[in-house]
Amino acid sequence: MSGFQDSLDSAHGAGARAFAGSFAHRDRASRVLPRGVSSSPRATQRPVALALARAEGARVVDVDGNEYVDYALGYGPLILGHTPKVVRDAVDRAMALGLRGGSAHAAEVDLAERIARHVPGAGLTAFLSTGTEACQLALRLARARTGRLPVVKFRYHYHGWSDAIDVATAPGNDGPATGGQDPSALAHVVVLDWGDAEALERALHTPVAGVIMEAVAINAGCFEPPAGFLGRARALTRASGAMLIFDEVITGFRLGLGGAQALHGVTPDLTVLGKALGAGLPISAVTGPAPMMEPMVAGAVSQRGTYNGNPLSTAAAIACVDYLAENAADVYPRMERYAAAIADRARDAARRLGAPIAVNRVGSCVQLHAGDTAIATLNDLSRVSREGTLALTESLVRHGVAPLPRGLMYLSAAHTEADVGRTLAAIDAAFAACAPAVSRAVAAGRA
Ligand code: PMP
Repeated sequence: MSGFQDSLDSAHGAGARAFAGSFAHRDRASRVLPRGVSSSPRATQRPVALALARAEGARVVDVDGNEYVDYALGYGPLILGHTPKVVRDAVDRAMALGLRGGSAHAAEVDLAERIARHVPGAGLTAFLSTGTEACQLALRLARARTGRLPVVKFRYHYHGWSDAIDVATAPGNDGPATGGQDPSALAHVVVLDWGDAEALERALHTPVAGVIMEAVAINAGCFEPPAGFLGRARALTRASGAMLIFDEVITGFRLGLGGAQALHGVTPDLTVLGKALGAGLPISAVTGPAPMMEPMVAGAVSQRGTYNGNPLSTAAAIACVDYLAENAADVYPRMERYAAAIADRARDAARRLGAPIAVNRVGSCVQLHAGDTAIATLNDLSRVSREGTLALTESLVRHGVAPLPRGLMYLSAAHTEADVGRTLAAIDAAFAACAPAVSRAVAAGRA
């Protein structure tokens, strides 16, 4: 028994949903927005990119009036849900004082002090607006501080879409992730398999500026670090003079106040933060002990950005971090318990149906993969069927549950027992409805 009150009333059952409004939205939007959206992955959602009319807590409602329990959470940032009172109040208060963009103000200092308190590897903090910018700054710091050019990144880890690092993010493609990239910007990026300590050791025999990784790989499908690998990477980078950079854009403040580094007891030289830090407002950060940030202090590396540290984002982030700190003993275990219930139910449903679906979970993140029942490491990703996963997430949408199209589900502090109960019932119905399509997609992928 799950202990949750399952409910899938008829209004939320299969076939009850129509998407005419979202399709009409797409047609109109496509005349003025490329593919009708403002970030390419959003266009992959099936049956159509849902046009949202409103949201509250962990629920979203589309323009057709369909309600969903939301696990996309704005691609991760909404760790307090869609309408967190503490964040709205803080933003209202900041707004009442005037926008004051592009100036020095107290909240950016208050926030940096909080980050220094909670994140083991923090010290001086540079604020930016997006994870992409923050990763770019971290790489510049590594190159400037070491006077070296090569950077090591790992297959399938994602560090934003800049020309300098958007490489080897999908199985079978070790090259640029998208058209229009300057391949020469990647000339000094060395791509390795995550967990291959021997390959990392060999790579570090030549001078390397930095090693960047998601300390827990959420993007590619929720993978814990291979046993001992973070510690080895720490020791090898320290011995070789390369800087160790943990990209905690997803894991920061999500896996706990101190992120993946606190959980795993390995402290990097630089930490990149984003997403959950701002509870949905745009803010990111690079933080590290003063000696690691020295090129910025000395003025050798400049930090640019019109919106950096803006009063609305910093106010939201302070409210978010304080809420998480005050409620950590409740929020983190609860999100994990809900995520575990969802993962267990999904595994049971897949097993019962004999469907080729794997379920991974790390903390409050759950990943559904179509393709195989065991996708245990990043090297198994070549067996994942993108088509099958899209069919699976479409079926969940049709049953009132909204994951990311690629199968990732985030929990928030706003999810309730009732939300999870409804989700568990929806998983049973959605998996049963899509199992044949998922199996066909996986078989076609193998053919
Ligand atoms: N790093 C990681 C680990 C991410 O997950 C992301 C975004 N998904 C980024 C960097 C880039 O962040 P942004 O989309 O804010 O540019």
